[in-house]
Amino acid sequence: MNYKINYFNEDKKPVIAVVGCIHGDETVGRKIILRLRKMKIRKGTLITIIANEKEMEKNKRFIDQDLNRSFPGKSKGNYEERLARNILKITKRADFVIDIHSTTTDVKNLAIITKKDKDTLDLAYAVEPRRVILMKKDIAKKSFINYCKVGVSLEYGKDGSNATYDNTFNSIMLLLEKAKMVDDKKRKSKSKCRKIDYYKMKGMVKKTRKDVLMKNVKNFKLIKKGDVFATRNGKKLLAKDDFYPVLFGESAYDNIFGFKAV
Ligand SMILES: [Zn+2]
Repeated sequence: MNYKINYFNEDKKPVIAVVGCIHGDETVGRKIILRLRKMKIRKGTLITIIANEKEMEKNKRFIDQDLNRSFPGKSKGNYEERLARNILKITKRADFVIDIHSTTTDVKNLAIITKKDKDTLDLAYAVEPRRVILMKKDIAKKSFINYCKVGVSLEYGKDGSNATYDNTFNSIMLLLEKAKMVDDKKRKSKSKCRKIDYYKMKGMVKKTRKDVLMKNVKNFKLIKKGDVFATRNGKKLLAKDDFYPVLFGESAYDNIFGFKAV
Protein backbone atom coordinates (compact mmCIF):
# COMPACT_ATOMS: atom_id res chain seq x y z
CA MET A 1 0.00 0.00 0.00
CA ASN A 2 1.12 3.51 -0.73
CA TYR A 3 -0.78 6.00 1.34
CA LYS A 4 -0.92 9.20 -0.64
CA ILE A 5 -2.94 12.38 -0.59
CA ASN A 6 -3.88 13.45 -4.13
CA TYR A 7 -4.22 17.08 -3.07
CA PHE A 8 -0.45 17.23 -2.59
CA ASN A 9 0.16 16.40 -6.25
CA GLU A 10 -1.89 19.33 -7.44
CA ASP A 11 -0.23 22.68 -7.75
CA LYS A 12 -1.58 24.03 -4.47
CA LYS A 13 0.02 25.36 -1.33
CA PRO A 14 -1.25 23.20 1.47
CA VAL A 15 -2.00 24.63 4.89
CA ILE A 16 -1.36 22.09 7.63
CA ALA A 17 -2.04 22.75 11.32
CA VAL A 18 -0.34 20.74 14.06
CA VAL A 19 -2.01 21.17 17.43
CA GLY A 20 -0.64 19.83 20.71
CA CYS A 21 -1.63 19.96 24.38
CA ILE A 22 -5.39 20.00 23.90
CA HIS A 23 -4.95 18.21 27.24
CA GLY A 24 -2.60 20.19 29.46
CA ASP A 25 -1.04 17.13 31.06
CA GLU A 26 0.11 15.71 27.71
CA THR A 27 3.50 17.24 26.94
CA VAL A 28 4.59 15.31 23.85
CA GLY A 29 2.77 17.69 21.53
CA ARG A 30 4.64 20.67 22.91
CA LYS A 31 8.03 19.02 22.40
CA ILE A 32 7.18 18.12 18.82
CA ILE A 33 5.81 21.58 18.04
CA LEU A 34 8.93 23.33 19.37
CA ARG A 35 10.99 21.14 17.03
CA LEU A 36 8.69 21.77 14.06
CA ARG A 37 8.93 25.53 14.61
CA LYS A 38 12.66 25.40 13.90
CA MET A 39 12.17 23.76 10.52
CA LYS A 40 12.39 25.40 7.17
CA ILE A 41 9.06 25.18 5.38
CA ARG A 42 9.58 25.07 1.61
CA LYS A 43 6.01 25.24 0.44
CA GLY A 44 2.60 26.09 1.87
CA THR A 45 1.99 26.99 5.50
CA LEU A 46 2.57 25.08 8.70
CA ILE A 47 0.48 26.37 11.60
CA THR A 48 1.46 25.13 15.07
CA ILE A 49 -0.61 25.62 18.21
CA ILE A 50 0.20 24.67 21.78
CA ALA A 51 -3.43 24.67 22.83
CA ASN A 52 -3.55 24.62 26.57
CA GLU A 53 -0.37 26.32 27.76
CA LYS A 54 -1.99 27.63 30.92
CA GLU A 55 -2.92 24.13 32.11
CA MET A 56 0.32 22.68 30.84
CA GLU A 57 2.38 24.93 33.09
CA LYS A 58 0.45 23.52 36.04
CA ASN A 59 0.54 19.98 34.59
CA LYS A 60 -3.24 19.96 34.74
CA ARG A 61 -5.47 18.34 32.17
CA PHE A 62 -7.89 21.28 32.10
CA ILE A 63 -9.15 24.26 34.15
CA ASP A 64 -12.95 24.28 33.87
CA GLN A 65 -13.73 21.28 31.66
CA ASP A 66 -12.09 18.90 29.20
CA LEU A 67 -11.11 21.04 26.18
CA ASN A 68 -11.67 18.10 23.85
CA ARG A 69 -15.33 18.03 24.97
CA SER A 70 -15.73 21.80 24.55
CA PHE A 71 -15.89 22.39 20.80
CA PRO A 72 -17.09 24.43 18.94
CA GLY A 73 -16.86 26.58 22.08
CA LYS A 74 -18.60 29.76 23.17
CA SER A 75 -17.42 33.38 23.12
CA LYS A 76 -18.77 33.96 26.64
CA GLY A 77 -18.33 30.45 27.98
CA ASN A 78 -15.90 29.12 30.56
CA TYR A 79 -12.13 29.03 30.04
CA GLU A 80 -12.05 25.98 27.76
CA GLU A 81 -15.14 27.01 25.79
CA ARG A 82 -13.53 30.35 24.97
CA LEU A 83 -10.24 28.65 24.17
CA ALA A 84 -12.01 26.21 21.82
CA ARG A 85 -13.50 29.08 19.87
CA ASN A 86 -10.15 30.82 19.56
CA ILE A 87 -8.42 27.65 18.35
CA LEU A 88 -11.03 27.14 15.61
CA LYS A 89 -10.54 30.72 14.43
CA ILE A 90 -6.94 29.78 13.63
CA THR A 91 -7.44 26.23 12.34
CA LYS A 92 -10.39 27.00 10.05
CA ARG A 93 -7.96 27.92 7.26
CA ALA A 94 -6.10 24.62 7.56
CA ASP A 95 -6.66 22.01 4.86
CA PHE A 96 -5.41 19.28 7.21
CA VAL A 97 -5.17 19.19 11.00
CA ILE A 98 -3.06 16.88 13.16
CA ASP A 99 -4.03 16.83 16.84
CA ILE A 100 -1.37 15.30 19.10
CA HIS A 101 -2.30 13.43 22.28
CA SER A 102 -0.71 10.85 24.55
CA THR A 103 -2.09 8.22 26.89
CA THR A 104 -1.48 6.67 30.29
CA THR A 105 -2.49 3.23 29.05
CA ASP A 106 -0.63 1.15 26.50
CA VAL A 107 -1.62 1.91 22.90
CA LYS A 108 0.65 1.99 19.92
CA ASN A 109 0.35 4.47 17.06
CA LEU A 110 -3.39 4.91 17.05
CA ALA A 111 -5.02 7.47 14.73
CA ILE A 112 -8.51 8.61 15.67
CA ILE A 113 -11.00 10.09 13.22
CA THR A 114 -14.55 11.35 13.68
CA LYS A 115 -15.57 11.38 10.01
CA LYS A 116 -15.11 8.78 7.30
CA ASP A 117 -15.07 10.85 4.12
CA LYS A 118 -12.28 10.10 1.68
CA ASP A 119 -10.12 13.11 2.62
CA THR A 120 -10.17 12.22 6.30
CA LEU A 121 -9.37 8.58 5.64
CA ASP A 122 -6.56 9.63 3.28
CA LEU A 123 -5.06 11.82 6.00
CA ALA A 124 -5.32 9.12 8.67
CA TYR A 125 -3.59 6.56 6.43
CA ALA A 126 -1.01 9.05 5.12
CA VAL A 127 0.53 9.44 8.58
CA GLU A 128 0.90 5.64 8.55
CA PRO A 129 -0.21 4.72 12.05
CA ARG A 130 -0.57 1.13 13.16
CA ARG A 131 -4.32 1.44 13.61
CA VAL A 132 -7.12 3.81 12.62
CA ILE A 133 -10.32 4.05 14.61
CA LEU A 134 -13.52 5.84 13.71
CA MET A 135 -15.08 7.40 16.81
CA LYS A 136 -18.77 7.03 17.49
CA LYS A 137 -20.69 10.17 16.54
CA ASP A 138 -22.20 10.95 19.93
CA ILE A 139 -18.85 10.54 21.69
CA ALA A 140 -16.99 12.65 19.14
CA LYS A 141 -19.64 15.37 19.02
CA LYS A 142 -17.68 18.02 20.94
CA SER A 143 -14.14 16.97 20.06
CA PHE A 144 -11.68 19.26 18.30
CA ILE A 145 -11.11 17.32 15.08
CA ASN A 146 -14.86 17.03 14.54
CA TYR A 147 -14.76 20.77 13.79
CA CYS A 148 -11.80 20.62 11.41
CA LYS A 149 -12.25 20.29 7.64
CA VAL A 150 -9.98 17.24 7.63
CA GLY A 151 -8.47 16.18 10.93
CA VAL A 152 -6.94 13.27 12.79
CA SER A 153 -5.93 12.80 16.43
CA LEU A 154 -2.79 10.83 17.20
CA GLU A 155 -2.66 8.75 20.38
CA TYR A 156 0.69 7.02 20.05
CA GLY A 157 1.36 5.92 23.63
CA LYS A 158 2.54 7.06 27.02
CA ASP A 159 3.53 10.69 27.43
CA GLY A 160 7.06 10.32 28.77
CA SER A 161 8.08 7.56 26.36
CA ASN A 162 10.70 8.18 23.68
CA ALA A 163 8.85 5.82 21.34
CA THR A 164 5.71 7.96 21.60
CA TYR A 165 7.70 11.08 20.76
CA ASP A 166 9.69 9.49 17.91
CA ASN A 167 6.74 7.73 16.29
CA THR A 168 4.43 10.75 16.52
CA PHE A 169 7.15 13.00 15.10
CA ASN A 170 7.88 10.49 12.33
CA SER A 171 4.21 10.38 11.32
CA ILE A 172 3.98 14.17 11.12
CA MET A 173 7.20 14.34 9.09
CA LEU A 174 5.88 11.69 6.69
CA LEU A 175 2.90 13.93 6.05
CA LEU A 176 4.99 17.08 5.62
CA GLU A 177 7.28 15.25 3.20
CA LYS A 178 4.33 13.94 1.20
CA ALA A 179 3.06 17.54 1.06
CA LYS A 180 6.55 18.61 -0.11
CA MET A 181 6.59 21.16 2.71
CA VAL A 182 9.96 19.94 3.98
CA ASP A 183 12.93 18.26 2.31
CA ASP A 184 12.23 14.63 1.67
CA LYS A 185 14.57 12.62 3.85
CA LYS A 186 13.15 9.39 2.42
CA ARG A 187 11.85 8.67 5.86
CA LYS A 188 11.20 5.02 6.39
CA SER A 189 7.66 4.36 5.34
CA LYS A 190 6.18 1.68 7.52
CA SER A 191 3.24 0.92 5.29
CA LYS A 192 5.28 -1.18 2.88
CA CYS A 193 5.64 -4.03 5.29
CA ARG A 194 2.45 -3.73 7.28
CA LYS A 195 -1.17 -3.03 6.66
CA ILE A 196 -3.02 -0.56 8.84
CA ASP A 197 -5.89 -2.05 10.85
CA TYR A 198 -9.21 -0.23 10.81
CA TYR A 199 -11.69 -0.24 13.71
CA LYS A 200 -15.07 1.27 14.41
CA MET A 201 -15.95 2.41 17.88
CA LYS A 202 -19.20 0.99 19.20
CA GLY A 203 -19.46 2.69 22.56
CA MET A 204 -18.06 3.03 26.04
CA VAL A 205 -17.71 0.43 28.76
CA LYS A 206 -18.94 1.93 32.02
CA LYS A 207 -17.27 1.29 35.35
CA THR A 208 -17.78 2.13 38.98
CA ARG A 209 -14.97 3.15 41.29
CA LYS A 210 -14.73 -0.34 42.79
CA ASP A 211 -14.34 -2.17 39.50
CA VAL A 212 -11.02 -3.84 38.82
CA LEU A 213 -9.87 -4.62 35.30
CA MET A 214 -8.52 -8.13 34.68
CA LYS A 215 -4.78 -8.16 34.14
CA ASN A 216 -4.97 -10.01 30.82
CA VAL A 217 -7.10 -7.28 29.21
CA LYS A 218 -5.00 -5.44 26.67
CA ASN A 219 -5.91 -2.75 24.20
CA PHE A 220 -6.89 -4.24 20.83
CA LYS A 221 -6.75 -7.80 22.15
CA LEU A 222 -10.17 -9.26 21.36
CA ILE A 223 -12.54 -9.88 24.27
CA LYS A 224 -15.17 -12.47 23.41
CA LYS A 225 -18.78 -12.63 24.54
CA GLY A 226 -18.83 -14.26 27.98
CA ASP A 227 -15.17 -13.48 28.79
CA VAL A 228 -14.49 -12.05 32.24
CA PHE A 229 -12.92 -8.63 31.72
CA ALA A 230 -13.27 -7.11 35.21
CA THR A 231 -14.57 -7.72 38.72
CA ARG A 232 -17.01 -5.70 40.83
CA ASN A 233 -16.99 -6.41 44.56
CA GLY A 234 -15.41 -9.76 43.76
CA LYS A 235 -18.12 -10.62 41.21
CA LYS A 236 -17.13 -11.29 37.63
CA LEU A 237 -18.15 -8.88 34.89
CA LEU A 238 -18.77 -10.71 31.62
CA ALA A 239 -18.57 -9.23 28.14
CA LYS A 240 -22.01 -8.99 26.53
CA ASP A 241 -20.57 -9.20 23.04
CA ASP A 242 -17.24 -9.51 21.20
CA PHE A 243 -15.20 -6.32 21.20
CA TYR A 244 -11.72 -4.86 21.07
CA PRO A 245 -10.88 -2.75 24.13
CA VAL A 246 -9.58 0.72 23.26
CA LEU A 247 -7.82 3.05 25.72
CA PHE A 248 -8.79 0.70 28.55
CA GLY A 249 -7.34 1.78 31.88
CA GLU A 250 -6.73 5.38 30.77
CA SER A 251 -6.37 7.28 34.03
CA ALA A 252 -8.19 10.35 32.73
CA TYR A 253 -11.45 8.37 32.58
CA ASP A 254 -13.37 8.26 35.86
CA ASN A 255 -16.50 6.34 35.01
CA ILE A 256 -15.55 4.24 32.00
CA PHE A 257 -12.96 1.52 31.49
CA GLY A 258 -12.49 2.83 27.99
CA PHE A 259 -14.11 2.26 24.62
CA LYS A 260 -15.15 -0.81 22.71
CA ALA A 261 -14.52 -1.29 19.04
CA VAL A 262 -15.17 -3.84 16.33
ZN1 LIG B 1 -5.43 13.88 25.15
